[in-house]
Amino acid sequence: MQMHYPLAVTPEAGSFLEVVQGVYWLRLPLPFELNHINVWLLDDGDGWTLIDAGVSIPATRVAWDQLFATELGRKPLRQLIVTHLHPDHIGLASWHCERFGIDLHATEPTIRRATRLLLHAETFNQELAAEFYRANGAADPDRIVRFASGHSYRRIVAGMPERTHRIDAGMTITIGDREWETIISHGHAEGHLSLYCREEGLLISGDQILPTITSNISLFEDDPDLNPLQQYLDSLEVFRQLPETTLVLPSHGRIFRGLHKRVDAIRAAHMERSALVYGYCREPVSVNTVAGRLFPRQMDEINSCLAFGETFSHLRYLEQQRRVRRFSENGICLFQA
Ligand SMILES: [Zn+2]
Repeated sequence: MQMHYPLAVTPEAGSFLEVVQGVYWLRLPLPFELNHINVWLLDDGDGWTLIDAGVSIPATRVAWDQLFATELGRKPLRQLIVTHLHPDHIGLASWHCERFGIDLHATEPTIRRATRLLLHAETFNQELAAEFYRANGAADPDRIVRFASGHSYRRIVAGMPERTHRIDAGMTITIGDREWETIISHGHAEGHLSLYCREEGLLISGDQILPTITSNISLFEDDPDLNPLQQYLDSLEVFRQLPETTLVLPSHGRIFRGLHKRVDAIRAAHMERSALVYGYCREPVSVNTVAGRLFPRQMDEINSCLAFGETFSHLRYLEQQRRVRRFSENGICLFQA
């Protein structure tokens, strides 16, 4: 099956569309190069279950007010589930929870890591982190430390809801008349949740499977032994087992069919990038040198940090495959084929 987009229309930011009965596609603005996120409102009897909250900026709150002023406002939210800890997904979680007196449902790593980024600012060891990035060749370690410390995160995440409930792998969550199986994967974010309705072949894929872009796979200083690219590739296998005809509801871009085709293309894109990184390692290179070659254009703070993290994840992957080795020279960490 070729990949295709079965719906001819896409909702504008601040508006919505019913995808199948009782499943609404809502679009919210994002203040980044990637300018929108899709969230999903599911009919849950006398209320709604919302999947993902939107980023905490005034424009998103305005969009939500617009959305709740429509027929969607006829019922309250009764449950909020977020797919992972990134600000566009969890940013307004506490705002929704306070507004409707509801709890947040998410995986344990989502709750733990978001809480850490929000609350543990004072315990973050800036100097240690700066040293790590300096040793990996970062030209402006303070910039990436600001990002890693949660400084940027706290600006666009309103807070952590008072009460949280844990979602685990292999659970079945009943929402209205539908049963959704939980799929938990890693690589893009630790403990990323996707929801699969087997009976109707619907997959709320979060950021794990996107139709046109590959999601960022980053390695940062707080867990440098991870191999997130391998974790992500492993997760693709799980999605490859679902039927090709599955209707995929992604967090960015349009709803599509052709899951196997897309999974294969995402895998190929990562392998292509890996081969490129491997090529740069013919001579000894730092993470920063490779990042500059992989992503030569000027980038804002967030994107340059993500570029660094993504490059690092590729080098780590190649190192784990014993295709490159890591050594230190004059205090700088270098990789070589
Ligand atoms: Zn994400």
